[in-house]
Amino acid sequence: MADVTSRQASVPPSLPRIVIIGCGFGGLAAAHALKDTPALVTVVDKTNHHLFQPLLYQVATAALAPTDIATATRALLRNHRNTDVLMAEVTGIDPELERITFAHRRSLEYDYLIIATGAAYSFFGNDRFEQYVKVLKTVDDASAIRTHVLGSFEAAEQTMDPEILRRLLTFVIVGSGPTGVELAGAIAELTRTTLACDFRWIRPQDVHIILCESGDRLLAGFDPELSDYAGKALADLGVEIKLKTRVSDIDAATVSFGEERIPSLNVFWCAGTKASPAAQWLAVPAARNGAIQVLEDCSVPGHPNIFAIGDVASYQSTNGKPLPGLAAVAKQHGRYVGRLLDARITSSDPVARSFRYRDYGSLAVIGRSRAVAEIFGHKLKGRLAWVIWSLVHLMLLVDLRSRLSVYLNWTWSWLTYGRGARLLTGTEVKQAVPRFFAGIGSDRNRSRA
Ligand SMILES: Cc1cc2nc3c(=O)[nH]c(=O)nc-3n(C[C@H](O)[C@H](O)[C@H](O)COP(=O)(O)OP(=O)(O)OC[C@H]3O[C@@H](n4cnc5c(N)ncnc54)[C@H](O)[C@@H]3O)c2cc1C
Repeated sequence: MADVTSRQASVPPSLPRIVIIGCGFGGLAAAHALKDTPALVTVVDKTNHHLFQPLLYQVATAALAPTDIATATRALLRNHRNTDVLMAEVTGIDPELERITFAHRRSLEYDYLIIATGAAYSFFGNDRFEQYVKVLKTVDDASAIRTHVLGSFEAAEQTMDPEILRRLLTFVIVGSGPTGVELAGAIAELTRTTLACDFRWIRPQDVHIILCESGDRLLAGFDPELSDYAGKALADLGVEIKLKTRVSDIDAATVSFGEERIPSLNVFWCAGTKASPAAQWLAVPAARNGAIQVLEDCSVPGHPNIFAIGDVASYQSTNGKPLPGLAAVAKQHGRYVGRLLDARITSSDPVARSFRYRDYGSLAVIGRSRAVAEIFGHKLKGRLAWVIWSLVHLMLLVDLRSRLSVYLNWTWSWLTYGRGARLLTGTEVKQAVPRFFAGIGSDRNRSRA
């Protein structure tokens, strides 16, 4: 196996090698904290960009373009003189040899390793669902949902068969955490305002949007009063909410909730996550969701030079529960571990022995001018929460270009109800409409002329 380490031969051997796997929220924060550390930092990610996942649902619903929320990793780390960037998928870690291996059969050695590989969706043991649903995790996922939603409308415009129409225009969202709620609200607005005006034959009442949740309320992480508000706001947008409803089966054209079968070609899965398989790479104990159970300084038990941060780590908070999978947790983890290593390498003032999470609050948006927020213990809803949500998200975007572009797009959409990112391009386009008619047979009412 070829060793990428050899290309770093020109680096003084005394410099410690720090490898960060994953440049999401956690990995990027760690890289920033290590910017001035006398070390050779290598950031490895299977993509070439950092992605702002909280706004992915806006790409999926044509409000933003992928470039508004994804920024090239190399550009973000351009000014880090001590940092290399590698685009490679990590497939294993050998802690004995202190080496990580890549899918393209090369490897890289480290003195310190920070694992920040995030999480993926979990199907609660029903992995067969995966082939029929769309998930929202990457830029490609968001683009696929957008093509699917816009393609459904294009196909619906070409039929008057009520059964086919129903399948095409029923959108089922599984899971009512912030992502499910945000996606349901955005699809409702997209279909009932923008698209309803642009298509001649589709009537707003033809569109059914169903948000289902196995628990007894939406947004379970928020105060119940805010869950109620979110439910009412979604109902106003025409979203049907099904609580205490568990998906029992999904196939190519139907979602089943026990006896109830709903015909739909548009099922979006926003429930449950599982950590990336780093615990298996290291053969260390994992929590139920597969996350590495880390120690109080985010290090991996038995491996004091390996740290796991963000969604791939299960960090026991002071109340005995693991910290939630949030961007803020990943960023604070990354910053803490970066400073810890910097202090260790430079022998400067040591940082606290244990990581402490500062919870500034949670936000979820439901649609135009409606959001819920819990900030420093205060509950907010409606327009004020929406303004705060917008400002916070603009501020958290990683570069000025993204902030300006998102701000302009939002202002335009708010004033016009328009959505700018509706072009369908690429290889998916040829299939965007035909795939919906495949297997359906001839449409007796197809011709409307
Ligand atoms: C749709 C959506 C909406 C969300 N909304 C919010 C929100 O509103 N607020 C909030 O706080 N949180 C939100 N989250 C959660 C938040 O995005 C995550 O908690 C956060 O991204 C975790 O950061 P991380 O660094 O652990 O992982 P990530 O940010 O997911 O980064 C992981 C990185 O690792 C890379 N990677 C993975 N595997 C490998 C491998 N084998 N080799 C190389 N590279 C690899 C990936 O390409 C990625 O760049 C949302 C998540 C999603 C999916």
